Amino acid sequence: MDVGGRVGRLRERFEEAGVDALLVTNLVNVRYLTGFTGSAALLLVGPDDLLFVTDGRYGEQSAEQLGVAEVEARIEVQTGTGQREVVKEAGAKFPRIGVEADDVTWAQYEAYAEKWFDGAEPSRHGRVVGVKGLVADLRRVKDAGEQARIAAACRVSEHDFALDLEFEMRRRGAEAVSFEAIVASGPNGAKPHARPSERAIRAGELVVLDFGCKVDGYCSDMTRTVAVGEPAPEARRMYDVVLASQEAGVAATRAGVEAAEVDRACREVIEEAGWGDAFLHGTGHGVGLEIHEDPRVASTSGDTLATGHVVTVEPGVYLAGQGGVRIEDTVVVTEGGCEVLTHAPKDLILE
Ligand code: ZN
Ligand code: ZN
Repeated sequence: MDVGGRVGRLRERFEEAGVDALLVTNLVNVRYLTGFTGSAALLLVGPDDLLFVTDGRYGEQSAEQLGVAEVEARIEVQTGTGQREVVKEAGAKFPRIGVEADDVTWAQYEAYAEKWFDGAEPSRHGRVVGVKGLVADLRRVKDAGEQARIAAACRVSEHDFALDLEFEMRRRGAEAVSFEAIVASGPNGAKPHARPSERAIRAGELVVLDFGCKVDGYCSDMTRTVAVGEPAPEARRMYDVVLASQEAGVAATRAGVEAAEVDRACREVIEEAGWGDAFLHGTGHGVGLEIHEDPRVASTSGDTLATGHVVTVEPGVYLAGQGGVRIEDTVVVTEGGCEVLTHAPKDLILE
């Protein structure tokens, strides 16, 4: 992974964003830019300098992790107001300082404007500029090291659909699940994000299993739908339609294609079967350090897919009172198509 080069690419985007420096408060973004995995840090990115602030718990860890990632920064270990003072002092020379609009609360924003970066300009908001997606946009394209980690997370999660799924994923080298597994049988399957319940799984019912794990911080995400014994003809038809839809989506995924077009490819197959209204969500989402990140694969998405994007393709049909089917793969977008990372078989009937 080329962590060291990321701050440089972020700086290239300052001019367009109308800022001279950026205060990074989102911890996933701090991790992306520095390799630091702890639970408390601030990063002030200037045009030529980098200030990393953390508290006493993380002094040694941050020096180590930034060193391994080849990130050159001034590391300050401070608590409370000490953090504010050191950032305030370093930020004094910048006329406009960006803060992450998607991460800071209104109260934090006011504090930055009034107490951290006050002065220079007479505006009510001082020198603080809210910016959106500056780091998130960089995170869309995964380098070779990131792709390898997501692929490893996908391989880990390809074992049996057992009840001790998490135990098994951890035993095979995952550090954590990327989200709480969804196991939904029979009518529960009609709720796209049903939580596992005490309900006993009956013969012939469809069971939606949606799960993933993390390897070195990077997530995997996969859904399979299975039937325990021969399903009813209607359930079998639902499965065949969703599988055809999912395959159409994967076939439509390649660099240069609008994400909305992939959604369209999936939706058309389901609409033709008469279940357009039963496909209750977008087709997919980006996967990386977070389980849901940019780009979005939906009819309303303005994103265009590019080489190195990692996204899911996960259409579904949900019939209230009856059940649901969803099939999901995580794929890497390439020049001429995409590479599927989740190789678990798509057999409907579980022996
Ligand atoms: Zn999923
Ligand atoms: Zn997903």
